[in-house]
Amino acid sequence: MLTNQTDRDQKMSQLTVAIVGGGFTGTTLAAQLLRSSGGSVSVVLIERGARLGRGVAYSTECTEHLLNVRARNMSAYPDDPEHFLEWARLNHAPGASADDYLPRPLYGQYITSVLQQEIERHPGQVEHVQDEAVSISRVGETAEIRLRSGRRLFADRVVIALGNFPPGDPRLQGRTPHSLCYVSNPWKAGALGDVSHDENVLLVGSGLTSVDVAITLRGRGFRGTIHILSRRGLLPQTHKATALWPPFWDEQSPRTVRGLLRLIRTQVKAAEKADSGWRAVIDSLRPFTQEIWRSLSLTERRRFLRHVRPYWDVHRHRIAPAVGARIASQIQDGEIELHAGRIKAYAEDIDGVEVTYRDRESRQLERLRVDRVINCTGPESDCRKVDDPLLTNLMRQKLARPDPLFLGLDVSPDGALIDAHGAPSNLLYAIGPVRKGSLWETIAVPELRVQVSELSSLLVGFDAWEKERLPFVTEVPVAI
Ligand SMILES: Cc1cc2nc3c(=O)[nH]c(=O)nc-3n(C[C@H](O)[C@H](O)[C@H](O)COP(=O)(O)OP(=O)(O)OC[C@H]3O[C@@H](n4cnc5c(N)ncnc54)[C@H](O)[C@@H]3O)c2cc1C
Repeated sequence: MLTNQTDRDQKMSQLTVAIVGGGFTGTTLAAQLLRSSGGSVSVVLIERGARLGRGVAYSTECTEHLLNVRARNMSAYPDDPEHFLEWARLNHAPGASADDYLPRPLYGQYITSVLQQEIERHPGQVEHVQDEAVSISRVGETAEIRLRSGRRLFADRVVIALGNFPPGDPRLQGRTPHSLCYVSNPWKAGALGDVSHDENVLLVGSGLTSVDVAITLRGRGFRGTIHILSRRGLLPQTHKATALWPPFWDEQSPRTVRGLLRLIRTQVKAAEKADSGWRAVIDSLRPFTQEIWRSLSLTERRRFLRHVRPYWDVHRHRIAPAVGARIASQIQDGEIELHAGRIKAYAEDIDGVEVTYRDRESRQLERLRVDRVINCTGPESDCRKVDDPLLTNLMRQKLARPDPLFLGLDVSPDGALIDAHGAPSNLLYAIGPVRKGSLWETIAVPELRVQVSELSSLLVGFDAWEKERLPFVTEVPVAI
């Protein structure tokens, strides 16, 4: 906070960056900005929750929720790959290994500590505003951010780091807005709190959210049957140590989904013969995934989303071995029942819910009687369907638009929001999963930390550049 005229004069010569969202990307961006600017950039971190660095992924208290990436790849800093591991050895377990899948709550503590360390080095440069940003508008060369509390903030640059959006509701014929047995968003605090231990539940969707919900329920002593239903009945695959596979994609590789699939299948066969396996082949694509995505035409990207995405997701987004083993043993013991098919009807009465679905294999209509239906279909990415005041407002003011595939927001290669007329902003940036349309692979730490680091350099670069044109900066109203 500004306390006297000297403070104010000093602040006036600084670039103020407001970051909306204090999850992984927002918090590490704040830390990177302090670290790389030597404290010459001041940061306002707007997070509606009380804790920084948690977001949806790391706010869990359940220590059985494990990271799905090895500790060796979870450092917040791309230029210091051991950073998380060293922290975990000091603060969690001295014997932690690079190949461990550590608890997610621990990772949340780590991210908080990353920022805390930079705050101690550069005191007074970050303000955590616990509030929700509901709109952003341009006022001359600065941005005005309105908060739910009514407070207004001004900044020279704004980065939106909103994370994944809540799940969209699947179309369930027969369900009404008053359905009492339906949990629309399992990530919402307390959403699973009133599921009693002896109920039977149906999880709609069989991806990472379902796995997480199943682990949460069992962790709380839930004894009922967990039904998991999705169109294909595919659960995420489990990580397994395999020999590395050399990179095989290059600029001469096919630029069609069909051609790429053929290439991958050939590589998988070769990897299996060489005592490696499909996991190593998929992993060897990871450093090139964004480039591959960019090399595909819009038509090919659509083809990928329509035909390949469900298979890609379960092979690429794998779960920790211990989590995979727990799910597998519950399936074997009949505690989890996996179903493949399309939901046809949802009927709620005083005894619970009857869900009718058409079985994928038999084509017969099947009925499931459960006490609760939990929506585990994963985050909604179509911004037109997301009920979020900030997003709606940005689009209404034409400051942002969805990307052509409705996977997030349209952004330039450096993350600047593209407005409704197609012009990149010089004020507003987006980071994280909302960049999915342009990058595809933009949800996990190994990619996000690179984005954070690049955006930080860009913003610090603006600071240096603008200091040379000082009169512009000193006129900027800093209202925090
Ligand atoms: C359950 C789960 C497990 C995961 N596990 C892993 C893993 O093991 N390894 C990995 O690499 N990745 C994992 N991920 C991927 C995850 O997306 C990233 O690791 C990372 O958390 C994304 O960071 P983010 O900052 O974009 O979003 P988040 O961390 O979700 O942060 C977004 C923040 O923005 C805040 N916010 C949103 N709107 C507003 C607003 N208008 N005003 C103020 N605040 C706002 C939210 O409260 C939230 O705190 C997981 C994801 C999930 C959902």
